[in-house]
Amino acid sequence: MRAVREAAAVFGQLPRPHRIGLAVCSTLVLAATLWQPSSYLGHDLSPRVEVGIPSSGRELLSERNSEPLGAVVENNDPAFAIPADELEQQLTQNAQRNHRHTIASGDTLGGVFGQYGLPLADMYQMLEAEPSLQRLGVGQRLAWTVDQDGRVENLSVRRNAKFTDHYERVADGEYRHHRAEEAGELKPVRLSGRVSGSFYNSALAAGLTPNQIQELVQALQWRFDFGRQARRGDQFAVTVEQEFIDGRAVGRGEVKSLLYLNGNREIFVSRAQNGQFYDEEGNSLNRALRRYPTAQRFRISSPFNPHRKHPITGRVSPHNGTDFATPIGTPVLSAGDGVVVKAQKHPLAGNYVVVKHGREYVTRYLHLHRMLVKPGEHVKMGQRIALSGNTGRSTGPHLHYELIKKNRPVDAMKVPLPKAAPVPSGDIVEYGKIAREEKQVLQQALSS
Ligand SMILES: [Zn+2]
Repeated sequence: MRAVREAAAVFGQLPRPHRIGLAVCSTLVLAATLWQPSSYLGHDLSPRVEVGIPSSGRELLSERNSEPLGAVVENNDPAFAIPADELEQQLTQNAQRNHRHTIASGDTLGGVFGQYGLPLADMYQMLEAEPSLQRLGVGQRLAWTVDQDGRVENLSVRRNAKFTDHYERVADGEYRHHRAEEAGELKPVRLSGRVSGSFYNSALAAGLTPNQIQELVQALQWRFDFGRQARRGDQFAVTVEQEFIDGRAVGRGEVKSLLYLNGNREIFVSRAQNGQFYDEEGNSLNRALRRYPTAQRFRISSPFNPHRKHPITGRVSPHNGTDFATPIGTPVLSAGDGVVVKAQKHPLAGNYVVVKHGREYVTRYLHLHRMLVKPGEHVKMGQRIALSGNTGRSTGPHLHYELIKKNRPVDAMKVPLPKAAPVPSGDIVEYGKIAREEKQVLQQALSS
């Protein structure tokens, strides 16, 4: 205060012009000090609150109620391996790993790669070959094959009935693009045969390609097991769509329908306009899978991330599942109908259960407190198979849930799941008509 009084006394002794000049300058300086752009006002008006971070919260969020980084179970860990039956061995030996995805609203190219755990490096290389890959329209169909290492070998986008974009890997990390125009004419071709030895070899002998056989085996996976139930003497007839250019057959088309006689049992399936197979009445051949392995929803403590990097070492440490922060003892429910293939202990996974659903899907449930099922047991969708826990390498009680599609971990929270929905109501009349005709033609093919 003394300084202020002294300053006021000095100010009073100054000549008038000086006093006016000093007052003007002081006012300007004061105004400049107080003035702030209006955009800052909002921040400064809200009071600041100091929040203490407890030491446990300073860990990376992804490490809580999860697994320590670097302590994840490899997808190909022998403890998780499911012995393949003969048909599976034949299919994986001969048919490449085919995947399909129909673009839904909100889908992006990066999102699709993420869902299926495909390498982003492959995506960037494809975009380099042809950047229009990024423009995907609702309803366009993506199809791709992956090699043993999960790299994309080729990918196609069916843009419309006339154009399809193809990307093919030519050298390591390089793709070639070409756009194919449907020039030919699609004509149905009928193939028929009788099972002698395995279904797989008999179907090959009848003229079906490995990919077509795989399509049928997959479409019927919940209804008929071609590996265990096919018998010598069974008869089959198939309609495949074949492309002809100038009367010459080129390429191989899709399977349109199948009639299979297994003893007295008759199995018929036909493909509807949406590309899915249905039975004669238009019922789904699928059994559904649920999105969540618990009755209640729990916080996701660590999401699926095939590209997760260790923050210190920088090494990629994929998180192949979704972690839910479930308290110990939470009932774990089977995602779908299936067979328990593993229920045992693992140094990293703790107590874990593996369920096989048809031929395409496998689910894994890790760090369990207690297992309620045994290998070989058949389980229903929603059945209690375990109680969640904190066993193995775990940073807190949680359930690590994995969905494996065709041997590759996929994002269980995002990937389209098989539904048991019938033919869409708008297509059902047309479908019924085509299916009845198809069945008659195939019956004739078998009796002739
Ligand atoms: Zn996890």
